Amino acid sequence: MIKYFLNFIFPERCIFCRKLGGYICSECDKNFIEVKPQICYFCEEVSVFGKICPRCKNFFSFDNLFICYRYKFFLKKLLLNFKYNFRSILAKKCALLIYKRIKEINFKNCLICYVPSDKKRFRWRGFCHTQLIARYLSDYLDLECKDILEKKVNSDFQSRLDRGARMSNIKGKFSVRFNCNIVNKNIILIDDVVSTGSTLNECAKALRNAGARRVFAVVMGSNKG
Ligand SMILES: [Zn+2]
Ligand SMILES: [Zn+2]
Repeated sequence: MIKYFLNFIFPERCIFCRKLGGYICSECDKNFIEVKPQICYFCEEVSVFGKICPRCKNFFSFDNLFICYRYKFFLKKLLLNFKYNFRSILAKKCALLIYKRIKEINFKNCLICYVPSDKKRFRWRGFCHTQLIARYLSDYLDLECKDILEKKVNSDFQSRLDRGARMSNIKGKFSVRFNCNIVNKNIILIDDVVSTGSTLNECAKALRNAGARRVFAVVMGSNKG
């Protein structure tokens, strides 16, 4: 009833073509370009489910990096709308887009977590966009979503450090919450867009140090290249 009422005042329109009837219409929905085949993100060799190849594995703490879509107009606009126009309602759509790409993968008994926003961003936006996506995705995949990671960085403190200390401060910027037991767990790590992979790597390192067995990173898009 409330939904009907809200719909009456603020009818849902496609964020791309403005057609009435939903935030993304069925026509525009076809414009997200799937990344196929998946590759090892670092040497770009073809690799099933984005598994990091043995040569690159020494440098990274996650096992897979699965990229769902090309980071082109449609995905960019969706994420911009979601993150900067405070359209938290789009989280469900993002989760569904991810789900479509990874539903065939066997994730039995995996835990879902996400790359957390820092506190400043969280306060400004009023929500953590990756957390919302991860929560909806956990419904679709029927897996548990946990707030495992937190971001520690404090930029004021950061600016007072010399360069060397600053680098190491950035390095330890994510940590596992103290009450989280993830020993021997397989983790799906969600982020929106990957560029160098260093953020995912820092998160994966923290997860591994806390005992995680495997870390499977999934992102909506990559802005590399
Ligand atoms: Zn449309
Ligand atoms: Zn490689």
